[in-house]
Amino acid sequence: MREALAEALTRGARAGRSTAVLLVGLDAAADRTGGADEDVAAHWAEIGEVMRRSLFTGDPVGRIGDDLAAVLQDIRSVDNAEAVARRIASAAPARIGIAVAAPGEYGPDDLLHRAALALRQARERPDGNPWACYGPEPAGTPLADELRGAVADGQLRVLYQPIVNLPDGDLAGVEALVRWAHPERGLLDPDAFVPLAERVGVIAELGRWVLHEASAQAARWQRRLPALQLNVNVSPRQLDENGFAAQVLAILERTGFFPGNLVLEVTEGAVIGEPASVAQLAVLSNAGIRIALDDFGTGYSSLRYLARLPVDVLKLDRGFVAELDGTSRGGAVAQAVLRLGQILNLDTVAEGVESEAQARELTLLGCHKAQGFHYARPLPAAELQRWLPVGDLSRYESEIWGPEV
Ligand code: C2E
Ligand code: CA
Ligand code: CA
Repeated sequence: MREALAEALTRGARAGRSTAVLLVGLDAAADRTGGADEDVAAHWAEIGEVMRRSLFTGDPVGRIGDDLAAVLQDIRSVDNAEAVARRIASAAPARIGIAVAAPGEYGPDDLLHRAALALRQARERPDGNPWACYGPEPAGTPLADELRGAVADGQLRVLYQPIVNLPDGDLAGVEALVRWAHPERGLLDPDAFVPLAERVGVIAELGRWVLHEASAQAARWQRRLPALQLNVNVSPRQLDENGFAAQVLAILERTGFFPGNLVLEVTEGAVIGEPASVAQLAVLSNAGIRIALDDFGTGYSSLRYLARLPVDVLKLDRGFVAELDGTSRGGAVAQAVLRLGQILNLDTVAEGVESEAQARELTLLGCHKAQGFHYARPLPAAELQRWLPVGDLSRYESEIWGPEV
């Protein structure tokens, strides 16, 4: 399946055509509690039938894990990806994630990763719509031009989500998460504009802004908590740029943030098999910056590359944390990832921890750190202050904290 996708992307890049991936999974309800194996088989048969009718001959279809993926390349089928998704969803209790790559835009792992994120979004949608598309519409839409202006006009904000040590729950670091304070639409989540920024080429500028803002902020917090780690997300598109590593180091120099306290979060697909990206990471790693693999477990990359990459941290995707239910089956993937982290001597961080029970199970499985709504949502800088030890009250901060009691 992955090879078929790689070929399709190469063909698409040559012919100037887009390529779409449609990733189909069963509804959680139909998949697990729906029980009977015959029912599950019947649902898949229905899905197969709809796909046979809706796709063009030559569009490859194959299983990826428990899910079914199809590569769409005929220009009409790419345009109709949503229509195909709608048809599948009306025939069976399915959820569909769609990701589209412009010619030469993504490699196979990145595109599959994006389809997997879209599938997860489709599964979690509060409006119940059974399909989701990774990233909104391409350039030319008013939003794209607005976004270019927004970075320059100072409409971006950074929220900070605490990352805590297990089992104590004391602050180990923060992850910087960008928001767009849109003048009319209010505070927008990154899902609404980061994919767009990647498409229209604003991501490099956005990324530089976030790193500058967050490292300047974290440098101030370090006066209270010197060991504080700062995690910043990096999009695969940023790693493509030759000067990326040099820019990162220049920004840290300017903000006075120590490279040894910075963790750059990249997704599996972004680094594997891209020699230029690996070279950038090596430069950063040599400078003392740590590299985390984000959403670990959702990609389809070969695990054997892992040992060769300059990786220091695995972030267990929150999809696997959600499956923890005290049984060995529910915890299987989490346990495998955490064990892998131990073998490779990596730091492990569980994402999306929403309950005490999950935190306890993760601790038992040997996970080092956790992040999630159970501890705190992403917070504005002013609210994060409360997480810092009051300890050494310095002169200039006494206005914020009041006199010591
Ligand atoms: P991510 O890196 O996986 O970030 C974690 C996301 O999970 C955040 O969503 C966070 O709000 C959410 N989250 C945290 N705890 C919980 C929990 O307990 N339950 C649930 N259900 N969700 C939780 P957010 O802030 O909407 O960010 C979405 C994605 O946008 C991020 O996923 C990251 O991939 C991307 N992103 C955010 N900031 C930046 C940035 O500055 N640059 C780039 N390139 N991407 C960014
Ligand atoms: Ca992240
Ligand atoms: Ca993540």
